[in-house]
Amino acid sequence: MPRPALARARRLVVKVGTGTLTDAAGRFDRENCARLSAELARVAAGRRLVLVSSGAVALGAERLGLVRTRGRPWDIATKQACAAVGQPHLMAAWGEALGARGLQVAQVLLTAEDLASRKRFLNARRTFQQLLERGVVPVVNENDTVAVEEIKVGDNDTLAALVAGCVEADLVAMLTDVEGLYDRDPRERGAVLFHEVERVTAEVERLAGGAGSERSTGGMITKVKAARRLGAQGVVTALLSGRRPGALAALLAGERVGTVFAAAARRLSARDGWLSAAAKGKGLILVDAGARRAIEEKGKSLLPSGVKGVHGQFGVGDPVEIAVEAARPFARGLAGYGADDVRRLAGKKSAEIEATLGFRYTDEVVHRNDLVLLD
Ligand code: GLU
Repeated sequence: MPRPALARARRLVVKVGTGTLTDAAGRFDRENCARLSAELARVAAGRRLVLVSSGAVALGAERLGLVRTRGRPWDIATKQACAAVGQPHLMAAWGEALGARGLQVAQVLLTAEDLASRKRFLNARRTFQQLLERGVVPVVNENDTVAVEEIKVGDNDTLAALVAGCVEADLVAMLTDVEGLYDRDPRERGAVLFHEVERVTAEVERLAGGAGSERSTGGMITKVKAARRLGAQGVVTALLSGRRPGALAALLAGERVGTVFAAAARRLSARDGWLSAAAKGKGLILVDAGARRAIEEKGKSLLPSGVKGVHGQFGVGDPVEIAVEAARPFARGLAGYGADDVRRLAGKKSAEIEATLGFRYTDEVVHRNDLVLLD
C-alpha cells in the first residue's frame, strides 16, 4: 500500500506503548493520553478502531509506590501484580479520555493461548465484531495474571499483530517513543530515519536489534518482527512517534511521517492469518524434500506418499506443523487425519488409504486450502 493509499485504511489497530503513556519518571502521562484520545477520536470517524494499550504494569507500579532500579528488572510475579493493579486504572484513563471525545471503550484481555485456540479466537473475533459494529473502541492488553511463559504473547507489539489478524485490520500503527526505525540508535548523532521499508530483511532486523528504549518491553526488534509477520499477511505496519502531535492523522493523510512497512499485495483470509500467526501446531508431520517442493513451489496438498513420520498427537482438524527437519517447520495446516492414522499412512499412495485405515476421508493428509507457508 503506497502512502496515499493509507487514507483508505478502514480497520485500524493502534498500539500504544508504555513509553507513550508515561513520563521520564515512569508516571502516567495524562496529558499525552488526553491529546492522543482527541486524535484517535478524529481518526475513528468513518473507521473501525482497536487500541492495544500497554501501561498497566507502569500504572500499577506507580500505585504501589514501586521504584525501578536501573538495570534490575522486576520479577514476573511483581509485574503481574502491578498489571493487575494498573489495568483498571489504565481502562479508567482511556475511558475518561476517549469518553470525553464521545467514544465508548471496552476492555479485552487476551493471551497467546486464547488466540492459538481456534474456538477462542473465533469467540474473540465475534466479540470484536460486535464492539466495532457498535462503534465501541476495544482496548486490548495481555491478560498478565494468567499469561506466563508459554501462554504469554510477551509484548504488545506481537499482540497487536495477532489482534490485527483477528479483526482483519488493514493497518497497524504502533505508537512509540521514537519517530520510527533508524539506521542506528536514534540518540546517536546523524541517525537517519527510514520512511519506507519494502521488506523486513535480516539486515533490517539487525538494525532494529540495537535501538531499544528503556521503558518499552520490546524495543524495536519486536516491532520489526511484528511488521514482517503482518506484511506477509498483507497488513501494512507503521511506526510513529506517540508524542508528535498529529502524527496519526498525518499518516492517514498519506504524509511522510514515521516508518511504513510495505505488505504483500494479497491479504490472507482471517482463517489463514490465524493459521500462520496465532495457531500452534499440536503435532508435527515430517515430509520428504519432494513433498516440500510440491507444497512450497507448486501450492500442492500434502499427500500420504510424502509423509515420513509424525511427532505428537493431534486429531482431525487440529493445526499441525509440516517440516523436513523437525526444528524448522516450513508450513502449518489443518490435519485431514488424526496423528495415529497419519503414522499408518506414511509413504502410502492415496489409493491405499482405504485399505490401510479401513476408511477414507480425503486423499490429502493436509489439503492445500488448509495450509499456509511459514516465513
Ligand atoms: N501488558 C503490559 C502492560 O500493560 C505491557 C507489555 C508490553 O508493553 O509489551 O504494562
